[in-house]
Amino acid sequence: MATGTRGSHMIWFHENRDSSCFSILNADMELGSTVAAVKSTRVCLGNQQVGPAVILIRDGKIHQVLPGGEVTEDVEVLDAGDSVVMPGIVDCHVHVNEPGRTSWEGFWTATRAAAAGGVTTIVDMPLNSIPPTTTLANLQEKLREATGKCFVDTAFWGGVIPGNQKTPSVCRNSQHGTVRTSAHDPGRSGRLQVLPDPQRRGRVPSREPRRPAHCHGAAERNRKCPTDPQQYDTFLQSRPDIMEVEAIRSVVQLCTEYQVRCHVVHLSSAQALPIIQEAKKGGAPLTVETTHHYLNLSAENVPTGATQFKCCPPIRSSHNQDQLWAALKAGHIDMVVSDHSPCTADLKKLDSGDFTQAWGGISSLQFGLPLFWSSASQKGFQLVDAVRLMCQNTAKLCGLGQQKGRLAPGYDADLVIWDPEREFEIKEEGIHHKNKMTPYLGVSLRGMVKSTIVGGHLVYRDGSFSAEPLGKTLLVPPTHDEA
Ligand SMILES: [Zn+2]
Repeated sequence: MATGTRGSHMIWFHENRDSSCFSILNADMELGSTVAAVKSTRVCLGNQQVGPAVILIRDGKIHQVLPGGEVTEDVEVLDAGDSVVMPGIVDCHVHVNEPGRTSWEGFWTATRAAAAGGVTTIVDMPLNSIPPTTTLANLQEKLREATGKCFVDTAFWGGVIPGNQKTPSVCRNSQHGTVRTSAHDPGRSGRLQVLPDPQRRGRVPSREPRRPAHCHGAAERNRKCPTDPQQYDTFLQSRPDIMEVEAIRSVVQLCTEYQVRCHVVHLSSAQALPIIQEAKKGGAPLTVETTHHYLNLSAENVPTGATQFKCCPPIRSSHNQDQLWAALKAGHIDMVVSDHSPCTADLKKLDSGDFTQAWGGISSLQFGLPLFWSSASQKGFQLVDAVRLMCQNTAKLCGLGQQKGRLAPGYDADLVIWDPEREFEIKEEGIHHKNKMTPYLGVSLRGMVKSTIVGGHLVYRDGSFSAEPLGKTLLVPPTHDEA
């Protein structure tokens, strides 16, 4: 008779209430197995509380949540001890790149990295795959590629581009008409630009400046532009706050005028926050995300030539970062995502260290939870905040709010079991992204993922995965509006 933990492995036991008999069934339950119940002293319950509970699972869904931790059915129970049991993370901003740029990242590697990070749903962005997800045929091609390769559930954003915005098949089959636009993304073929009608062309933000933006803006005009391509400041000055602020201002104007749902991706500049606050106060259907890199990296600490830190919009000052954290706490920023955007090593130009030539994108899908928690726990954020910012609000944005992001009856049995107090160092051999380059190499974080359950299946535990990819591809019905 035993319960609790043995080493780093969880103990499985069987409870028979009639005979009060507990027996260990399997200390190392086979990965890929169906989980019937999970027990812990720290379960993130649907009522925003954290406490002892048992979660009963049936047919891939959460059947019951029993506060107090008393098992009322004769089932096998996964006893997570004092580890936190939380809804799996829904990362709604991931660039998988398959097909077309599969050497950058693919469904197999991205979803394994996700599983290792407690992410149970990813939503793939229309870019940077070839073709981009802008037509039904392109979506079907992507679905074919993804089938049989996903260790976690995978959904897809559809891209709205000039000419396809009235194509119902794109919206109906990929997403539900939520207009996603972006302040600035890395320059690339296939970039998106939303133009609501010809009369508005001059007022709609473009992702790229119409002319070079070095020292753009009044404040910069009187000082010398940095030119050394190995200095991070050279790149930072080419993407000043004003570019992002003006792009967001344009989106907010459209959002307010047409009352159409708009979502600001990867907010980097805190200077845009007053515009966002004002719009939200006025009732605009606006949501805003920021990313782990804007919350954890700062311009002052980017080493010379360290192009693995390059992303667009850029990592800004630590003062800017403090303001993002404050806005997150105040509820002005709704969610935190990875914007996982990898590439091959050669495109990062590490040999030359040239920030102006390197691909702009940071890989962090696997480490979102510990990145967030390492900083957030020091700033007074609670576990329920992690659930709200990385599970509930992201699920809701994607039209999955009734299905994912909560531990409640009827929701998908997507769970992450993790130790918020446990520290670990990011080492290359522990990274499951296809390309291991990341600015976080060698960084110590708090919060270690122990196990991940997707649709009631144990897909990850202590560095190992289920033999078969057990995630699903998801198509989201277009009829609801959860904004
Ligand atoms: Zn992105």
